[in-house]
Amino acid sequence: MKVVVCTKQTPSTTATFTVNNGVVSWDDPGGKPNVVNPWDEYAIEEAIRLKENHGAEAAIALTAGGESADDVLKTALAMGCTEAIRVEDAGFAGSGSRGTANILAAAIKKTGADIAFFGKQAIDGDTGLTPVMAARALGWTPLTYVSAIKSVSDDSITVERQIETGTQTVTAPLPVVISVVKEINEPRYPSFMGIRKASRATIPVWSAADLDIEGAYGPGSAKVDWSEITQPPSRDTVVEFISGDSAEEIAAALATKLFEEKVI
Ligand SMILES: Cc1cc2nc3c(=O)[nH]c(=O)nc-3n(C[C@H](O)[C@H](O)[C@H](O)COP(=O)(O)OP(=O)(O)OC[C@H]3O[C@@H](n4cnc5c(N)ncnc54)[C@H](O)[C@@H]3O)c2cc1C
Repeated sequence: MKVVVCTKQTPSTTATFTVNNGVVSWDDPGGKPNVVNPWDEYAIEEAIRLKENHGAEAAIALTAGGESADDVLKTALAMGCTEAIRVEDAGFAGSGSRGTANILAAAIKKTGADIAFFGKQAIDGDTGLTPVMAARALGWTPLTYVSAIKSVSDDSITVERQIETGTQTVTAPLPVVISVVKEINEPRYPSFMGIRKASRATIPVWSAADLDIEGAYGPGSAKVDWSEITQPPSRDTVVEFISGDSAEEIAAALATKLFEEKVI
């Protein structure tokens, strides 16, 4: 069993962006650094656990992105991934979810992995489409919103999926694509030794010529046009402190207020 985990570099959750004429100012995140897509931390942790606890022969971190994305791969290595690979090519620019998934699928295939982990979504693009589209490109079974791995062998896996009305336990033959939710684990912090080792790692870069990419990618391949992005309108809020001589009096005044406002 070989495991690959796809991860993307995203802006920090505390980054602040402005939108001007339908265009996001991605280059100005308010001085905040880029990070490992927060959902991917759970995917990375689970990939490492399959290596540590279930005998996977490798846990490979994979990203499609520019040189700065080496930082997220180094974080994955520092956490415990055994290898990292970045795919980059001038011809990848303009790939939407479908193109990105086709590129990642080709790279996943090249690693020889039979389980590919993803986070449930990226916090910038936010589509949640990449895992299922990669599964489709690979012809593998997609297992989405996975909150626990119950058992895994060399030829099958049983997982718990989180669905709106509860949880669902499903078994599928390998190979599979798994997208995880945060209930699956508690991601570890990179160790000091891990950080030192990762900082010295040389990360191989695969280009389009190294991959057998099936399907569209690059300029003109996106089927969805993000033609306009708008900033949510700012909300006017009023803060009112309720005072009184006792907790009961304050609670009664609060209840009256909520009743008047038709909240209760
Ligand atoms: C400002 C902006 C404009 C965009 N405009 C368009 C457009 O016009 N048309 C269009 O089709 N798309 C557009 N996109 C989508 C963009 O191409 C997405 O980044 C890409 O489709 C991946 O989808 P996602 O970010 O929604 O990831 P999701 O599908 O939400 O991510 C799910 C999982 O896939 C992983 N993943 C996603 N991308 C990568 C990667 N590169 N390497 C490794 N893992 C990855 C994530 O880390 C996560 O684990 C735009 C995105 C932005 C931020």
